[in-house]
Amino acid sequence: MCGIVGGICKNNITPVLVDGLKRLEYRGYDSAGIVVLSDENQLSRARSVGKVINLEKNIQNKSTPVEGVIGIAHTRWATHGEPSTSNAHPHICNGSVGVVHNGIIENFLELKSEQQTQGYHFTSDTDTEVIAHGIHKALQNSNTLLEAVQLAVQTFEGAYGLGVVSPKHPEHLIATRSGSPLVIGIGKQGHFIASDQMALLDITKNFIFLE
Ligand code: GLU
Repeated sequence: MCGIVGGICKNNITPVLVDGLKRLEYRGYDSAGIVVLSDENQLSRARSVGKVINLEKNIQNKSTPVEGVIGIAHTRWATHGEPSTSNAHPHICNGSVGVVHNGIIENFLELKSEQQTQGYHFTSDTDTEVIAHGIHKALQNSNTLLEAVQLAVQTFEGAYGLGVVSPKHPEHLIATRSGSPLVIGIGKQGHFIASDQMALLDITKNFIFLE
């Protein structure tokens, strides 16, 4: 289980998220990634194997800027699927749901075969990808991203801390946890989430610890 940082703020959130990931580096991890909602309301993603500095360089070299006011970022400690760029988080379904996940979805094989039957295409070997597809499926029967996440998590067995964003609901970032830690940080410039308050100490000292 490794690190999550996310948030909604008034300015470009990317430097805040990268800085938050650096503060979680002491935990050890094998890869790192970020996705933000761009000004064009697209999910703009960067993922790299190795240190957060590799991710930072990757972001700088991207032809499409990884910039936006809502975003989620992750350092991964692989449990299912080798350390690789395609297994690094965030995972995205059909350009419309982006997810970072700490923990393990125990029933992912069962969910994966169900989702494959429904036509979902998998691009990683992780347990996490079923979360992105599950929320995408639930969005079809939901009015809000919150409702979709609430529906989808009912099908997950295991431990999770999640950050979820969607261009279909660009004003929201959904955070939820079961078994894995997650805090909300209330800052002057925005609201943030993290798997460990350490990640946000530069921004705020005002935390809500999710039960
Ligand atoms: N089980 C997930 C994976 O292997 C998340 C691992 C983590 O918590 O970093 O991708």
